[in-house]
Amino acid sequence: MTQKRVPEAYARLGIKPIINAQSWVTALGGSLMRPEVLQAMNEAATAFVDMTELNLAAGKVVARACGAEAGLVTAGASASQTIAAASCMTGTDEAKVEQLPDTTGMKDQILIFKGERNRYDMAFEVPGGRLVEWGMLGGAKPYQLEAAITDRTAAIATIFGPFIRRGLPLPELCAIAHRRGVPVIVDAAAEVPPMENLTKFIKQGADLVLFSGGKGIGGPQNAGLLAGRKDLIDAAIANSLNLHSPRAGIARGMKVSKESMVGMVTALELFLETDEQSLLAGWRNKAEYIQGRLRGIPGLRVAIEGPDANRQGVQPVIYFDSGYAGPSPAEIRKRLLVGDPPIHVGGGGYRDEINMAMVNVQDGEEKIIADRLLAILKPKR
Ligand SMILES: *Cc1c(COP(=O)(O)O)cnc(C)c1O
Repeated sequence: MTQKRVPEAYARLGIKPIINAQSWVTALGGSLMRPEVLQAMNEAATAFVDMTELNLAAGKVVARACGAEAGLVTAGASASQTIAAASCMTGTDEAKVEQLPDTTGMKDQILIFKGERNRYDMAFEVPGGRLVEWGMLGGAKPYQLEAAITDRTAAIATIFGPFIRRGLPLPELCAIAHRRGVPVIVDAAAEVPPMENLTKFIKQGADLVLFSGGKGIGGPQNAGLLAGRKDLIDAAIANSLNLHSPRAGIARGMKVSKESMVGMVTALELFLETDEQSLLAGWRNKAEYIQGRLRGIPGLRVAIEGPDANRQGVQPVIYFDSGYAGPSPAEIRKRLLVGDPPIHVGGGGYRDEINMAMVNVQDGEEKIIADRLLAILKPKR
């Protein structure tokens, strides 16, 4: 079996690399940075700079990339969520900035559609406010949102991601929010590529939008983007970059190193020059290779899906029907994980299918995946 060289830095710690067919998940290392990004980070590590100046300059690149009035590099999408929530509560009022996480006297509620609750949303509550659910799982209605907005509403958060039940369409949500003077924060952490999503949410009315830096954009995994209205980004700077103030600000624990800041900007600029068609074609080739290798197994069908709202990149997805007599999907996953190297595949999403994101599958690994799946599905007798 093809064995990849184990990087020395991992070998020293007794850690073996895995194959990541589960997408840009943090638990598996996010994404790999391009050599140009690492090179820029190395250069940044050789000199001191004024960090406020650096962040303001980096913020301009973020703003341009997102088609927004202003922007900021943060320590990741979660940090962006926290800083966005703080900014909508404090504005640029320095007394309020210093008062957090005590929100006494501030608007301190963030509305979120019930179906959009997700594993990351507690980050909105870190600065001291509270998430308040609106709507019903069966569907979102404009009057439900209207009724949920009160004089304590600091912002409305809305989340885009695989298998998240959408509330109202964004333009409609923003129209209602803006009539009531409430800003809208869009968490689109994992929604790029496509590149057009960098600007789409702002165009549709979002006041702030946030992305992970270390997912599809390929920046440092502890970096992210926040972009939007100038006054809200000024507030974000007050809450996170207040380096010369008596109090450090709620986001002090989410500081971005000069190396990560430069790495993020470099990755973003490279991402903007990416030929998306060839990126998609590369993922499609790998997906079709796996599909081809798995032909002819009774009861098993491999579909090519994505990119769409639920499938990142282009993915081979294995469906099992009543004629299938092999190991269960759970058993297949288990055997992929205990093999060498361990292979992590997607959790499916709709039913019992197995999906494999190609976005982090390195050249040649599609062959290892196909070999191992065949060994599990068609054992030699
Ligand atoms: C990944 C993700 C986050 C967290 O992103 P980090 O950059 O790892 O902090 C937040 N929200 C959603 C919807 C995500 O997919």
